Formats: sequence, C-alpha cells, structure tokens
Amino acid sequence: MATTHTLGFPRIGAQRELKFALESYWSGNCNREQLLQTGSRIRQQNWAQQHQAGQPRVSVNDFALYDQVLDHSCLLGVIPARFQDGSSDAFDTAFRMARGRAPSGTAVRACEMTKWFDTNYHYLVPELEPQQRFTLAPDKLLAEIAEARACGFDVKPVLIGPVTYLWLAKTAGDFDRLQLLPALLQAYAELFAILAREGVEWLQLDEPILVQELEPVWLGALETAYQALSGSGLKLLLTTYFGNLGDNLSLALSLPVQGLHLDAVRGGAEYRRVLAELRDDQVLSLGIVDGRNIWKTDLSARLKELQPVSDQLGARLWLSSSCSLQHVPVDLGQETALDAELKGWMAYAVQKLAELQLLGTALNGGQVTAALADNALALAGRRSSTRVHQDSVKQRCLQLSLKDGERGLAYDERAPRQRERLQLPAFPTTTIGSFPQTPAIRQTRAGFRRGELSEADYVARMQAEIADCIERQEACGLDMLVHGEAERNDMVEYFGELLQGYAVSRNGWVQSYGSRCVKPPVIYGDVYRDAAMTVQWSRYAQSLTTKPVKGMLTGPVTMLQWAFVRDDQSRQQTCLQVALALRDEVCELEAAGIAAIQIDEPAIREGLPLKRSEWQHYLDWAVYAFRVSACGVAPQTQIHTHMCYSEFNGIIEAIAAMDADVITIETSRSNMMLLDAFIDFEYPSEIGPGVYDIHSPNVPEVAQMEALMRKAAERIPAERLWVNPDCGLKTRGWDEVGPSLENMVAAAKRLRADG
Ligand code: GLN
Ligand code: ZN
Repeated sequence: MATTHTLGFPRIGAQRELKFALESYWSGNCNREQLLQTGSRIRQQNWAQQHQAGQPRVSVNDFALYDQVLDHSCLLGVIPARFQDGSSDAFDTAFRMARGRAPSGTAVRACEMTKWFDTNYHYLVPELEPQQRFTLAPDKLLAEIAEARACGFDVKPVLIGPVTYLWLAKTAGDFDRLQLLPALLQAYAELFAILAREGVEWLQLDEPILVQELEPVWLGALETAYQALSGSGLKLLLTTYFGNLGDNLSLALSLPVQGLHLDAVRGGAEYRRVLAELRDDQVLSLGIVDGRNIWKTDLSARLKELQPVSDQLGARLWLSSSCSLQHVPVDLGQETALDAELKGWMAYAVQKLAELQLLGTALNGGQVTAALADNALALAGRRSSTRVHQDSVKQRCLQLSLKDGERGLAYDERAPRQRERLQLPAFPTTTIGSFPQTPAIRQTRAGFRRGELSEADYVARMQAEIADCIERQEACGLDMLVHGEAERNDMVEYFGELLQGYAVSRNGWVQSYGSRCVKPPVIYGDVYRDAAMTVQWSRYAQSLTTKPVKGMLTGPVTMLQWAFVRDDQSRQQTCLQVALALRDEVCELEAAGIAAIQIDEPAIREGLPLKRSEWQHYLDWAVYAFRVSACGVAPQTQIHTHMCYSEFNGIIEAIAAMDADVITIETSRSNMMLLDAFIDFEYPSEIGPGVYDIHSPNVPEVAQMEALMRKAAERIPAERLWVNPDCGLKTRGWDEVGPSLENMVAAAKRLRADG
C-alpha cells in the first residue's frame, strides 16, 4: 500500500496572513501572542489539509516564522556573539539575526542571506566559529510536535541534515568547518534521543547537497554522519531534491538509513537504478509531483510508471512532491485573475496534495477513473491549445542563426561611433533605471487597474511623473537619463502582463525571504510581443530633454528565471522566444530615436545549474539569448546591461561574451573588490561600478564616491568607466536620492577635473 507524505508545505498562508502578522508585530501593531496565533492557525490548516489528503503523518517543523535555516541555527544554539548581549529574549533574538532589529533588543548587523540552492528563496546563512558549541534548544520543535498531536495527527518531523547544514554555513576566519562535524553530530544524537523518547517514528532529514558534485571530504562527512546517527531508534528518511544524485547515488544507498527520497521530476528516472539495490527494510520515497512548478501532473503517465514500482515495493513505496511545496503558491482555489482554461492546467500546493492522494488511491486499487479522465482532458487541452502553440513563433526560433547574436562590428569599432553620437563627458553619470515609487505613483497604478482612472488620465499622470523625473535628473546634472519606471510594479511582472504567452496571477505568492513574497508570472505558451511595451514612455521622456535617455528592458534570462516556466519545452527554447520578443522592442526603441538601451540581467548568475559540469551549456544558451535580444541594433546604438550581485567567479568570461557596450554592477559595499574579476580577465568594454549603495538610507559623500572611482580608475582605463549607483532607486525616497545623486555628479566632476 503506497503511502503519501509532504516534504514541506508553504507557511505564508493562503492570503499571506503570516506576512501581514509579521510586519504588524515588527512595527508594534500587534503583540507576540497574536503573531503566534497566526502561525498556529496556518500550521493547523496545513496539517488538516495533509490529513484530509489521506496522509498518515503530517509534516512538522517545516513551519518557520522567518526561515527554516534560521530556526535550525536557533535549535542548535548557533547564535553569533553579537546577538547575545542580553537585550532580547530568544524570540526577538531570532528576528534580530534575520533583520538586524526586533521590537526588543538593540539594533545589530543582521546575518547574511543567500539563495537556497537554485531557488528564489533566501535563507539566513549560519555563522560558525572555530570553537563553536552546539547547545540544543528543542522547545519550538517539541511544541509543534505536541501541537500536531493535540490536533489528532501523527507526525513526521523535518530537519536539515547535519552535512547540508555545515555546507550552508560560513565560518568566521580561516578554518575548515568540517572540523565541527563531531560536535555537531553530538548535538544531533542528543536531539534524536529526545525525539525517540517522544515516540517519533519517522524523521525526515534533508540533504539536498547530495545532488551536487561533492568533494571527497564532503562525501566522507556524509558517511561519518549517518554512521554516527544510526541506532537512535528513529527511522531516518534521507531526503534529496533539485536534481539527480549521479555519482553520489551509491553513497546514498550505502548509508544506514531507513528511507531515501529522490526527486523524480528533475532527477528523472534515476530511481530505477535504486530499485535493485534498495535493502529489504528500506522505504523509497519518490517525488513525482513537481514542487518547483505550477503545472498539473500527468497522472496517467505517472501511474503507468509507478505501477511496477508499487508491485515491487508495496508499502515501502512512498509518494511525495519532488521537493518542499514552499516553492509554489498555496491554493489555486484562491486564484481570481486567471481564466478557467488556464487554471484547468495548473496545480498549487493544495492541489498537489490532491494529486498525490489520487496516485496513492489508484496504486492501492481505489476507484479513480473519473478523476483520471478529468486530468487527461485538461492535459490534452493544454497540449493542443492554440493559446500555447504559435507556429510563427516556433518558425522564427528555428530560423535563428549565429549571426542573429552578432552586432556586426566589434566593441572597439562600435565605441567611437557611440561616442560621436552620444557626446558624453569623461566619467559619464547615469542611474540603473527606477526612481522612487512614491505613494502617488502606486495609487495611480492601482486606480488604473481598478478601472477608476481612464487610459488617457493614466497616461497623463504617468507622463507627469516622467517629466518630474527628467527634470530632477537634469537638476542633479546627470549625463545619461532614464524615464524612471513609474509605470512598473515589478521588472518582470510588467513585461509578463504585456507579452503574449505570459499570464499574471493575483494570488500566486511564493515566499522569497521572511515576510517578502514574490508573484512569478506564468509562461504557458509561445512568447511573442504583439505591441510595443515601453516605447511610448521612452519616446516621451526623450522628447523632454536634449540629454540621451536610456531605454529600459528586462532581459530574457531574468524574464525566464523569475517566472514559472513551461514544462513542455526546454528552458532554453522558452528563453529564445522571450529574447526574440525583446529584440523587437529593442529595435523599435532604436527606431524611435533612443540611442542607448539597457537590458537588465540580474538573474543570469542564479540560473547556474547546481552541477558545475552543466554550467557551460547553460551559459552558452543564456548568453546567446541575451545577444539575440540585443543584437538587432546598429553599431552606434549603445547596449547596456545591469547585474547586481557580488560574485562573478567562474562566469566573467560569459559576461564578457554578452558583448554589451556598458555593464553596470554592484560594487560599493565590496569596496571595488568585485572589479578584480573584471580586471584579471581584461574585460573589454565599459563598466559602471556602483558607487552608491542603494540598500542603505545614507547619503553617500562626494569624497567617498570619488575615492571608490579612483580605485577603479587605477586599474581600468578611465575612458571605459561610468559613474552610477549599485542598482535601481525605487525603494528609496526623493529626500535621499536627490542629494545622493548630486554628490555622485560632484564626484564625477572632480574626476574629470584631473583630466
Ligand atoms: N532597471 C531596474 C531598476 O532600476 C533594475 C532592477 C534590478 O536590477 N533588480 O529597478
Ligand atoms: Zn540591480
């Protein structure tokens, strides 16, 4: 009898209740009790849903008020010294670690955040010291176990595995964090003893690092860890996801655990290799419903594939989603913006539980014919829909050649033509695109969306915002202007609303970090552009000034990376379609007289595959897609790109291959260290190293920015340097932005004065 279970469920609540409760607690508008009650309501709802879907055990400890890695650090007592000043209790200390402040306790530098593997979820990086002690604080875990039991549910707690935890951590100073493994295992062993005493039967231990290529020391650590942790009396489900195990599979099979979970979506049919080797007392959990995407599962195909596995394993076969469902939105039933046909193709977390239930029932001989027929109908509809397939788009992709990714002239020959056309001073100043999104701007957009504002009124108000923005930039003395992006709620959703083949949901929220959620658009069909998207705004902005105004687009890789993508064609294929749509926009901007066009690609790095051996293939098609979007223009049109992260290791060659005329990057916090990668590689074209840290409310001083630029100019020829902020200014206020940009321009003037 196949069993179903949940690796993890979204914790933000179907209406983002947790977000609102957290923000209200932080701002002093609700008390701790109220926040805890919201958390408890969400947990109990999640458990009830798992129970109703026929799961014998509910998932416990997948809930976190802020982040599950942060909770794990707190469970192990990994709390850096700077938070232990006695100014807050454990509850607020966790929030101080997460965000630097809490209703109680002193303000302090928060822990670093970084992306959870290749997802858009950010976790708080554990900080380990050479003499790190691990002291268990299992109250939260035990309380949640008790809470679930009090609701009448059997439990399966979830924990991050010891080796993945170490791997995710960073260390203060230069020591090998693997040295801490014995002490860490001691803490895990104590915890396991407590859980065993509590009568816990199964424990899920997540070790997603197993899908990466690991050095022998890390493989050895896994072996040591699981040997040491066997014999606690708990049954361990070693859980992997986000890919196949490849060379690590035999190690995983050799570990003394009672169950193994494999991602059978991104890991494909690798599980078949396991069937022969699984020990008689071991469970195989298969992730057959996609935890990273919103499409319905092909239930008939999955059943056909699972039947022989079920015949062989019987009750030792468990079914689940490929990974935690925290990466998909909560409930499609709450979705109001999508039409019935599109909704009919989709499944959010709640619907995925129902799919699992159906598969389990079918394998156990239950009656599911009608439900399977419904599923097959929906899938057949999607496969053949004219909304999905556009022959002209497919044809255009097929006809793409290498030439479509080439500018015609090399940078060295383009640059003098661009200089001639743009007439910019040395150290030209510019910004990254967005300007403060004032309450008035937000209200105008919301009013238009609700139909309270006519199209003409909306355009007039947006034009007034653009005019104001241009005027302010001229007053600051900037050299290359932007229109300010007032019409955009979000750099991806804006284009998602305008491009064909994209749909935008109303409630498809996914946690990004803490109380922050994102709403990725859904790419459901062949992508094309049926009308200009930005040209009217850019043209209007340019009509107001003699200075050049930069066109502003989101690049094809970022448009792909920050969306839910099709699962019926490769990411590469989808990306090329987006690139072609953007190429049309780029050419139309050029025809409208726009002399410089920026194509943002902040997500290019995070698209890197988890396995290093797959990097090159990804970079090849990602760079080509960017080039396709950019290369339709004449040599005298200047192409900019922008990226904001602090690591270019291993990808600088690919960044150069994008062949942009100008790249603006984030550097101010790293004190220009980041530039080293560009210098070592002899990056060939122009660079704008960010000198104004837009994440801080502080107004940067002239001397400070001047010093940063001088540092850059020591190593990069001055004629290839631009002066600009780290990123867009939409989260800042005009009171900070105005003086900051004035200072930035003053710094550029001082640099020029030196000749
Ligand atoms: N042009 C965008 C802006 O300025 C870029 C945002 C980003 O890099 N994330 O807001
Ligand atoms: Zn940026």
